[in-house]
Amino acid sequence: MSDCIFCKIIEKKVPARILYEDDVVLAFEDISPHAPVHTLIVPKQHISTLLDISDSDLYLFGHMFKVANRIAHEKDIAERGFRLVANCNAEGGQLVYHLHMHLLGGRQMISPFG
Ligand code: AMP
Ligand code: ZN
Repeated sequence: MSDCIFCKIIEKKVPARILYEDDVVLAFEDISPHAPVHTLIVPKQHISTLLDISDSDLYLFGHMFKVANRIAHEKDIAERGFRLVANCNAEGGQLVYHLHMHLLGGRQMISPFG
């Protein structure tokens, strides 16, 4: 999608600190981190929100969790603990309308319900 910032990162038209890449997903550092570890895991296919997934995308979500697991180990936060977040639409706090998972860690997490 031409006006999507994450598609531009996937296409290497916009720079990012990439941590992991394969045919299905890209993981890169969040530009405005909320924790010592704040990584975004995004599908290479443009999917706007969690509401737009279909049965054929189910492999993708297992894969995104596996990549989060791998990065948590690489960042040495796996045993201490971490948080995965996926925001959907305005009241969910979604700012970028290309589906993504936040991997947050390296500090104590507080209530997710604020
Ligand atoms: P969300 O509120 O779930 O849509 O989160 C979008 C995230 O994307 C925010 O944490 C932003 O800091 C992050 N973000 C936006 N633009 C960029 C960028 N060019 N590179 C890396 N992260 C970005
Ligand atoms: Zn996109």
